[in-house]
Amino acid sequence: MSERTPWRAAVFLWMCLASQAQAQSSANDPAGSPPFKAGFAERDITPEVGMEMPGNYGKVRGTSIHDPCKVRAAVFDDGTRRVALVGLDALMIRRSTASSARNAIQATCGIPAAQVLIGASHSHSSGPTGWVLRGEFDAASPLVAKLAYEESPVADPAYLMRVEKAIVDAVCEASHRLVEARCSFGSGREDKVSFNRRLRMKNGMTFTHPGRGNPESVAYAGPIDPEVGVLGAWDKADRLLGVIVNFACHATTSPPGFSANWIHYLEQTIRGGLHADVPVVFLQGACGDITQVDNLSPYADPSGEKQAERVGGSVGAEAVKVLLRAEPGHGGPLNARTKVWKIKRRIPDPARVQQALALVQKGEREVGSTEWIFAKEILLLDAIIARESEEEVEAGAIQVGPAVFISNPAEYFVEFGLELKKRSPFKFTWPVELANGCVGYVPTEEALGPGGGGYETRLTSYSNLEPTAGRQFLETGLELVKAMTPGKVPEPPRAPPFTAPWSYGNVPPELK
Ligand SMILES: [Zn+2]
Repeated sequence: MSERTPWRAAVFLWMCLASQAQAQSSANDPAGSPPFKAGFAERDITPEVGMEMPGNYGKVRGTSIHDPCKVRAAVFDDGTRRVALVGLDALMIRRSTASSARNAIQATCGIPAAQVLIGASHSHSSGPTGWVLRGEFDAASPLVAKLAYEESPVADPAYLMRVEKAIVDAVCEASHRLVEARCSFGSGREDKVSFNRRLRMKNGMTFTHPGRGNPESVAYAGPIDPEVGVLGAWDKADRLLGVIVNFACHATTSPPGFSANWIHYLEQTIRGGLHADVPVVFLQGACGDITQVDNLSPYADPSGEKQAERVGGSVGAEAVKVLLRAEPGHGGPLNARTKVWKIKRRIPDPARVQQALALVQKGEREVGSTEWIFAKEILLLDAIIARESEEEVEAGAIQVGPAVFISNPAEYFVEFGLELKKRSPFKFTWPVELANGCVGYVPTEEALGPGGGGYETRLTSYSNLEPTAGRQFLETGLELVKAMTPGKVPEPPRAPPFTAPWSYGNVPPELK
């Protein structure tokens, strides 16, 4: 627009914009539908210094605090249903904790338990939400109980109660804060901060983190998922209410101290980029075999702090771009479905259990040594199987308009996440792992086969479901989605009908 635009042109432009705004507002609320609402809230669950910081098979304690760990909640209401999506800065959430929180939400603010998704971010610098629960091994032999309670990560009952209350409070506050809202849906691409951590080796097997410069490494054993899924919600005055981000990368960057891990920098980048101090709900994608570590890089790893900034900042910057470009509109319809069933565990050979027992009983163990750790884990698993040879699991699907969040409690391999996206009828399919429970690693059948191997495929008290588990989660997730009809992706208002080109622009060059 030229500075010397005649006033008539300015009036015409104003009329166009006004009619566009009118068209936009009617497109946002389909005729007869009640207003779509959104609400967000968060709660602090930063652990106390000295508490356990679970993240591997032994005990580690937090010695400082880097940034707050949070519960981050989004609630949507389309006039027919209300759903809640909760991101938890935690390594995991045990099924009993998730169920208890979901039931309390239903009782306190009326959102049905099955319409609440609680997903752990898998932060390896968060508080003691697992993985052993107090009392769980009381019926086992004194040796096994000691291995469970004294040599493994154990949840802190008081902390668990605090987390559970914080989840209920955050969801109920978000529900209380529901206001008329428009939502945007979009995807960005960030393919330089996450890597498949499993590598094909010259011996024909697949190893996890074989290390940089290893001459036996051949290639990455699998893909990554570079999609940054982003849902934004704005109120009637166009103020950002909150954001949901979905991306697949282990939260193992671990800056020093208790921390939301790289999710802290994701939040800071989005808040800074959009000048809005709003909740950022992070839901972890299928990252069972994905981390920030590039085993084929010739360069040394930067510090944990730098890695956290790199991953969180890059994913956050991509999310900002998506939010700036996407068009907000009607966020409905909402839908939610779940299925609960049991999956068999893999049973260790009796000879392997005997060998593990002998190794642990020798008493000459080197605590922390790989062989000893896996022997301890076999004994714990053996005790779990004596109690229950199958594990109760839940898959879920929560639809928000043209997007669907397909969840399960696995550390889910990225191959499954990509297949979910490919086969889903939704434009935006965002897998959420470690949701409403935790069943450890669920690798592909190929990874558990003859050319497989690596950390995720070992039999432990944490990861032990039968090889078809991943496919069961996949097919069940898709089955749940089948009954849903995707909403329309909001579009910008259409240009008004063409009348005439700009009278200053449709002219030939002038040479003299
Ligand atoms: Zn993990």
